[in-house]
Amino acid sequence: MSTWRIGGPAEAVYWPETVEDLSSVWKNAQEAEIPVRLIGRGSNVLFPDEGLPGITLVTTSLRGISWGDYTVRVEAGYTLARLAQEAGERGWSGLEFARGIPGSVGGAIMMNAGAHGGEMASRILSISTLWADGSIRKLERSQFEFAYRHCSLRGKAWVLEAQLMFSPGNREQILHHMKENLTKRTANQPLEEPNAGSVFRNPPGDSAGRLIEAAGWKGKTIGGAKVSEKHANFIVNTGRAKSKDVLALIEAIVLDVQIKYGITLQTEVESILTGNRGA
Ligand SMILES: Cc1cc2nc3c(=O)[nH]c(=O)nc-3n(C[C@H](O)[C@H](O)[C@H](O)COP(=O)(O)OP(=O)(O)OC[C@H]3O[C@@H](n4cnc5c(N)ncnc54)[C@H](O)[C@@H]3O)c2cc1C
Repeated sequence: MSTWRIGGPAEAVYWPETVEDLSSVWKNAQEAEIPVRLIGRGSNVLFPDEGLPGITLVTTSLRGISWGDYTVRVEAGYTLARLAQEAGERGWSGLEFARGIPGSVGGAIMMNAGAHGGEMASRILSISTLWADGSIRKLERSQFEFAYRHCSLRGKAWVLEAQLMFSPGNREQILHHMKENLTKRTANQPLEEPNAGSVFRNPPGDSAGRLIEAAGWKGKTIGGAKVSEKHANFIVNTGRAKSKDVLALIEAIVLDVQIKYGITLQTEVESILTGNRGA
């Protein structure tokens, strides 16, 4: 269930097919005091080795989409990269940065996913959200905030649907730009091994990958987890990695970089423990 392919079994997994379905499972689970968490495409999470109790909701069947006039209304589980490609095919510009990001629209909003100088925040018009009290609220872009890989709604509400905006562009140029971005990724990222993208956030004015490489961590392993030889900010699963291996590697890197450079790296990937409300 995660791109890292790490973690024990989930007690129950459910793929809601409609927003109503999702909110009714949430309400019933609340009443029965069963823990619930929600994931999208699992491309930014580390699941625990002991597995996940309660219900894990996966949004990937929430794939409704309707195209407007340089806008799109799209459900949370829609694949971001596919949306970027489809917008590009129409000659709509704005999501070129997202073509190689393997998340869902909802996950990308919560993470304010970004690359190549672009980020989700700049494309959002409004979102529809589910809150802990079961209410569904439509929020305009001005009613919540984004920062670097952060959305102010994280851990508070779930994204059900979003309305995004585009600018008119040149179809061939957009498609070419996306292809170039993909080529760069294939060259620089260990896409052939299970991973979860960048493990650490870039500290202000620097790059986490540069610091980790300079500290000598490229290729180092703990158990089945290895710092990629291709990109030091990626930890790959060499086949049998445990969550505890990844966490030990993260801890060791943080400590070493702190000692050598006085910078405390913060993780970008999320370690899901027993969780509730996506936290
Ligand atoms: C090879 C690779 C390359 C990557 N490159 C990039 C990159 O260039 N830029 C970048 O920013 N990221 C990148 N990532 C990380 C990841 O793809 C993004 O963070 C993505 O947006 C996560 O989406 P997801 O659906 O997989 O979220 P998940 O991993 O499923 O979840 C991540 C978090 O979001 C929450 N969440 C998911 N869906 C919702 C929802 N509908 N409502 C509320 N909360 C929700 C989850 O509870 C969890 O807290 C990369 C990952 C990989 C594996």
